[in-house]
Amino acid sequence: LGRAYRSAPLASKLLLLGTLSGGSLVAYSDSNKKEEEQKQKKKKVVVLGTGWAGISFLKDLDISSYDVQVVSPQNYFAFTPLLPSVTCGTVEARSIVESVRNITKKKNGEIELWEADCAKIDPANNKVRCQPVFKDDPEASQEFSLDYDYLVIAVGAQVNTFGTPGVLENCHFLKEVEDAQRIRRGVIDCFEKAILPGLTEEQRRTKLHFVIVGGGPTGVEFAAELHDFIEEDITKIYPSVKELVKITLIQSGDHILNSFDERISSFAEQKFLRDGIDVLMGMRVMSVSDKDISVKIKSSGEVVSLPHGLILWSTGVGTRPVISDLMEQVGQGGRRALATNEWLQVKGCENVYAVGDCASIAQRKIMGDIENIFKAADVDNSGTLTEEELQEVVDDIVVRYPQVELYLKSKHMRSIRDLLTDSEGDPKKEVDIKAFESALSGVDSQMKSLPATAQVAAQQGSYLAKCFNKMEHCKEHPEGPKRFRTGGHHQFRPFQYKHFGQFAPLGGDQAAAELPGDWVSAGRSTQWLWYSVYASKQVSWRTRALVVSDWTRRYIFGRDSSRI
Ligand code: FAD
Ligand code: MG
Repeated sequence: LGRAYRSAPLASKLLLLGTLSGGSLVAYSDSNKKEEEQKQKKKKVVVLGTGWAGISFLKDLDISSYDVQVVSPQNYFAFTPLLPSVTCGTVEARSIVESVRNITKKKNGEIELWEADCAKIDPANNKVRCQPVFKDDPEASQEFSLDYDYLVIAVGAQVNTFGTPGVLENCHFLKEVEDAQRIRRGVIDCFEKAILPGLTEEQRRTKLHFVIVGGGPTGVEFAAELHDFIEEDITKIYPSVKELVKITLIQSGDHILNSFDERISSFAEQKFLRDGIDVLMGMRVMSVSDKDISVKIKSSGEVVSLPHGLILWSTGVGTRPVISDLMEQVGQGGRRALATNEWLQVKGCENVYAVGDCASIAQRKIMGDIENIFKAADVDNSGTLTEEELQEVVDDIVVRYPQVELYLKSKHMRSIRDLLTDSEGDPKKEVDIKAFESALSGVDSQMKSLPATAQVAAQQGSYLAKCFNKMEHCKEHPEGPKRFRTGGHHQFRPFQYKHFGQFAPLGGDQAAAELPGDWVSAGRSTQWLWYSVYASKQVSWRTRALVVSDWTRRYIFGRDSSRI
């Protein structure tokens, strides 16, 4: 039969096939159709970005019920909290990244991934336009468009130079893995240059002056890493220039780590003082050139110029152009991040969601709720609260809005603390509700937006995935379970952020931590806690093994200072 089939002309081949398979040919095309139909019926979800928010969404999404396409210029996920460790080779770059295809292949279903930038979001036509990253290959750089039923925007943020002249050209940034690798080479270059013959001592000093702009967690952690690298490894290799190295941290506010508990900021400041890291506070950077950085002392208005060898700019988060463009289209122009409602839906577009650093969730209810909590506590309607009543109020607020606690403990709330305590620092017997409320409303805008952290991004991604998993079911049963009936048009509980605390590694195997329940700790044991938390947070067993082995390698052999 096989021979007959092979030698027969095409027309009779088809005839033969038809008779042989009989009814099954029809059945086959039927099931094919069904599959096609099913695929047609599946809603198309396009996800932009494979960072913290995007990956946690993809990990938790039930992809069997959606047709998922992912657009990202990076085909990997990067564990950003370890980027500062990559700048000095404590951890290798490859150890903190995991391929997105590796992460998603564990899912039962298919996810398509395109290595491209989303160049334009068109919410009116439910389309996104994408530009592949291979700009120098004409065949692989053709723009393409994707249609979506639902769009999940998770493109993160970019650096913010606040328009300061010369920053883009002359500073390093620390957002991406490539940035960390560039810094690593940059630091080693500074030492190689400084030891060359023919330089004056002044020139050597300049080459070895490392400047960090921004006293937030990233700037502080980099300063600490750099200090350790220099102390523990570099000075052994370049002993001749050991005494010429200087690290300067420039901060515009009056304390570093000012989103942390006061005790942690002052612990960090003291540690840096002992380490010989110069911390300049109350300074504003005016401009940067390849040789100098010019800063204005806020109190006196005086402008000074500091020669530098390398600058890390790590202050503030800015908006990606594709997001600014979308905000213009949906009437949100001029904002830093996309405004969403408490269900993470972008205001002005029904089927577009935004998560992570590119989004800012509205929590307008906070102030109203806080007012009600006050009213309820003021039993005798006197307009004042006693100390115990006030403590109850604060506890109540913190339980409902964990992010308020962040601010209550940080420096932003100094005005409020002054209101609660007298000049000796003792608690006041009575507190004026009106004054307390107006102090609170002063920080209202800060409380409204959540911090731009991986913790927030990951929780939002995973919350949204759970909503997507239940979406079809909820559409079929619009009556919904009682507890989700909020005014009739939303089937899901609003997103609620849970704050699990934050760490600040400070070098010399010391870290500071702020954990839930007003628990602050600092020192070596906290560093061990940091190691275990960061090891456990890795996305895969592969990266976990790599990171732990990098730490071990560093303990035994030190860091490598080859410029590769
Ligand atoms: P990202 O993780 O930045 O992901 C954005 C994704 O979008 C990336 O995959 C990017 O390639 C992609 N993308 C960009 N443009 C486009 C485009 N046009 N189209 C499609 N895709 C695009 N947070 C903590 O909680 N704890 C920490 O210890 C901590 N340490 C940090 C240390 C450093 C050095 C840095 C830089 C950040 C740190 N953060 C930390 C903050 C944390 O990394 C961010 O808050 C988090 O990455 C935000 O997640 P995201 O998904 O919104 O954005
Ligand atoms: Mg993301």
